[in-house]
Amino acid sequence: MKSEVRIMTKEEVYRIVIDPKDHRDVPLTFITDCPSYLMTKTGSWRTLRPIVDNEKCIKCGICWKFCPDVSIHVKDDGAEVDYEFCKGCGICAKECPVDAIIMEKEEDYV
Ligand code: SF4
Ligand code: SF4
Repeated sequence: MKSEVRIMTKEEVYRIVIDPKDHRDVPLTFITDCPSYLMTKTGSWRTLRPIVDNEKCIKCGICWKFCPDVSIHVKDDGAEVDYEFCKGCGICAKECPVDAIIMEKEEDYV
């Protein structure tokens, strides 16, 4: 996934906080002047890997809201995990309302 780092204007931040159209209108982070998260790839910490079944996904964005690492993103065709940063905590799988995410052993994928 390509990440973009840019500084938002106060007007943009105000509009998104006060009147977001939906979860996709909110940027990955408001701390745009500190890109250290892009340098610390935490995917190698993972022992469990989230696997998304996009046939089940209803694109609600709950996984994105709960992911502590901003490592799952919801697009038009479903949810997509950024495995370079996902630590495999399983919160997304626990919170998904339609059980579209299962956690599998990382060792089965390396
Ligand atoms: S929580 Fe589940 S249904 Fe909602 S966007 Fe994420 S994977 Fe899809
Ligand atoms: S397993 Fe944890 S870190 Fe990985 S996408 Fe799900 S919530 Fe985020």
